Amino acid sequence: MSVAIVHSRALAGVTAPRVSVEVHLAGGLPGVHVVGLAETEVREARDRVRAALQNAQFEFPARKVTVSLAPADLPKESGRFDLPIAIGILAATGQLPQGELDRYEFAGELALTGELRAIRGALPMVLSARHDGRAFVLPQASAGEAALVRNATVLPAPTLLAVCAHLTGAAPLPPLATDAPAASPVNGLDLADVRGQPQAKRALQIAAAGGHSLLLIGSPGTGKSMLAQRLPSILPPMSEDEALEAATVASLAGQFRTDRWRVRPFRAPHHTASGVALVGGGGLPRPGEISLAHHGVLFLDELPEWDRRVLEVLREPLESGVIHVSRAARQSAFPAQFQLVAAMNPCPCGWQGHPSGRCPCTPDQVRRYRWRVSGALYDRIDMTVDVPAIDAEAMTSRTQLAEAETSAAIRARVAAAHARQLERQGRTNARLGAPDVERHCERTREAERLLAHALSRQTLSARGYHRALKVARTIADLAEADVVEADHAAEAIGYRRELIAGH
Ligand SMILES: [Zn+2]
Repeated sequence: MSVAIVHSRALAGVTAPRVSVEVHLAGGLPGVHVVGLAETEVREARDRVRAALQNAQFEFPARKVTVSLAPADLPKESGRFDLPIAIGILAATGQLPQGELDRYEFAGELALTGELRAIRGALPMVLSARHDGRAFVLPQASAGEAALVRNATVLPAPTLLAVCAHLTGAAPLPPLATDAPAASPVNGLDLADVRGQPQAKRALQIAAAGGHSLLLIGSPGTGKSMLAQRLPSILPPMSEDEALEAATVASLAGQFRTDRWRVRPFRAPHHTASGVALVGGGGLPRPGEISLAHHGVLFLDELPEWDRRVLEVLREPLESGVIHVSRAARQSAFPAQFQLVAAMNPCPCGWQGHPSGRCPCTPDQVRRYRWRVSGALYDRIDMTVDVPAIDAEAMTSRTQLAEAETSAAIRARVAAAHARQLERQGRTNARLGAPDVERHCERTREAERLLAHALSRQTLSARGYHRALKVARTIADLAEADVVEADHAAEAIGYRRELIAGH
């Protein structure tokens, strides 16, 4: 028979639509024609497949070979289709039996030697197709992430020859056990390592419990980055669905690691990062930093140094948890439900308020510096906290270090407060929409009076009022209180402030 059909998958956003690779042999001038791939990719794929087949001692057909990848309008990277194209050629020329092909999906890039190289997106490929009942033949290096999907059959293959030996029945590939590994421990950083800073740690705990965005303001060396890096260590454990979503994004970026399974991501892009690096994009759109931070933490240090236009792009995902990336006529959506933590110096020199009194900045300089982060983005930050210079006593005190609470202890409280929110409203307090805030944030008359007072004195804007109320709700959840009380509201109002006096 001179036609063969092999199943594979392309990548589009976080899904992996079906692609069928059809190989036809016909009379006419010998040559390989590929339909459905971009021109440059065709040449590369053709060269790799030809070399791999010849190196594996297979016969390359001296006939006209037409390979068509359907549907035609999907974006396709050539590499992943090397293996299905090679298998299709072998089956169409009778060098492999065709009978069993329908039971499998194939993906893998071929080295010239016939070895199979890793592809990105193996996990979303298997997730998209797990109900089809086909087994997945994948490069060994990509099989581990695919095997995280329950009830999928994943066959890891080192080389093209190993795949052929499997299909002829000569040497069946043993399936990889598809069992999600036990949750890895968090990244090893512990809040107990950070000396002093009780207010900042308290704010971090509240942010962790309610999913609130947080801005840390302090001089260099006060531990802002150390604190932010330890936020994942106190966040509630990931559900399996959350873990699969986060792993899918990492897989699409070619960055998945099994030892990061169920570890909430922490991403800290540099302020020189481009818009594409931050939000994603490119010819075949890939997820950016904000999607790699999905269900984890996005840390933006030196906030005033960031390009305002780049920060503006964060507004959409901060509200919706999704980012849309456009490229030509095609749009891809990537999940981006991250928790924003930002840090900044209090003034251009960094030392405002430091006991040494070494800050020479004028009020005007400070205003202009802070102006850079005011507006759209600052409006979306739930909590702001000062991280003051640590006094010498705290730095040298060993007892302080010994008494500091561990991340594990804090995490237990955070997880309990998180569970209360899910039970009450099915989401974190930070994700409550305006109408839900009123419904779920029941408060005492005194708490309401405090909030209304802050609103009337313009300590709070209208938007800030709702943010403060949600933070107060989280503080109440940490205290296992059903109703927001005055001291919860007062503490929450303390985390709201205008960056620029009178603004
Ligand atoms: Zn200064």
